[in-house]
Amino acid sequence: MNLIDSLGRKIEYVRISVTDRCNLACYYCRVGERVSKLHHDDILRYEEIARLVEIMSAFGVKKVRLTGGEPLVRRDLPELVKMLKSIRGVSTVAITTNGILLGRYLEKLVEAGLDRLNVSLDTLDREKFRKITGVDGLRSVLSALENAKGLFRDPIRINTVVLPENLDEAEDLLLFAKDNGFLLRFIEYMPLSGGTGKFVGMDEVLKILRRRHRVELAPDQTSDGPATLYSVDREQFIGLIAARSHPFCDGCNRVRITSDGKLRLCLFSDLEFDLKLLLRSGTSDEEIAEAISKWVLLKPARHFLANGQRSTTKRGMDAIGG
Ligand code: SAM
Repeated sequence: MNLIDSLGRKIEYVRISVTDRCNLACYYCRVGERVSKLHHDDILRYEEIARLVEIMSAFGVKKVRLTGGEPLVRRDLPELVKMLKSIRGVSTVAITTNGILLGRYLEKLVEAGLDRLNVSLDTLDREKFRKITGVDGLRSVLSALENAKGLFRDPIRINTVVLPENLDEAEDLLLFAKDNGFLLRFIEYMPLSGGTGKFVGMDEVLKILRRRHRVELAPDQTSDGPATLYSVDREQFIGLIAARSHPFCDGCNRVRITSDGKLRLCLFSDLEFDLKLLLRSGTSDEEIAEAISKWVLLKPARHFLANGQRSTTKRGMDAIGG
């Protein structure tokens, strides 16, 4: 049985926010102060997350990504990775992290069977890092990345949101990724509530990289989700994720679960369904499965950022998980 929306899009990927707390305060992401808005009891427990993933895996959901807030601030996250890895049908468990606590948990994450690691890193400059994130943390991230090299099945992805202040680092980041065997992905800033970033289109990035490099569309586009892959000098790949200038809604295969247990069908739509209520009111797996399959039919066809509209979401990126 598959999970299919009304446009025939097959849902195979769930992104789960395990906390709304974060240890950074990136100015383009956060809404207000960096304190949790949720009570401990509001947050899904690991057993509840695992139950939902098990139900969804019976529908063909194969890939799970843990995000936040910052997922590694949630206690014992490797335990959750282990629980998800033991679910039949789940082929990939991934984490998106800012890397600040990665060094501390790396060994346990590997032991737990984590398949894939994405690290968000917008700059290689210590002072700029501090300005963007509010924390003097670049060294911790770089040292964790150094230790993480080669430990995972797939290359580590470095996710860089393109901002006016890091455009000049596009080439340095490219070199950094090449030297370390990372897959660099540039991400367009998306104007959700709260964040105050400035949009820079992917064409800008391409223009800068093409001054000194041969950047060509890669022949095989199947391996990296929403990213359009390019080869650079025929010796390195990079990904460009351009939700605004080149939306990829037609191929969207994902849904999200927020840390307070809401099923969210599109990053840019506040249409949410209360899974936590079902989980905590004695609902059977079959009934939850039926509810999810009905709700998924309401997945919006597309978002409207490309028309220059600002998203009006109630939640900011920090509360959805990116
Ligand atoms: N704390 C984790 C991290 O930093 O990777 C996971 C959550 S964070 C919200 C996930 C990703 O969303 C990060 O790469 C972050 O840079 C990105 N992000 C946050 N706000 C964004 C925005 N407005 N537009 C595009 N990406 C954004």
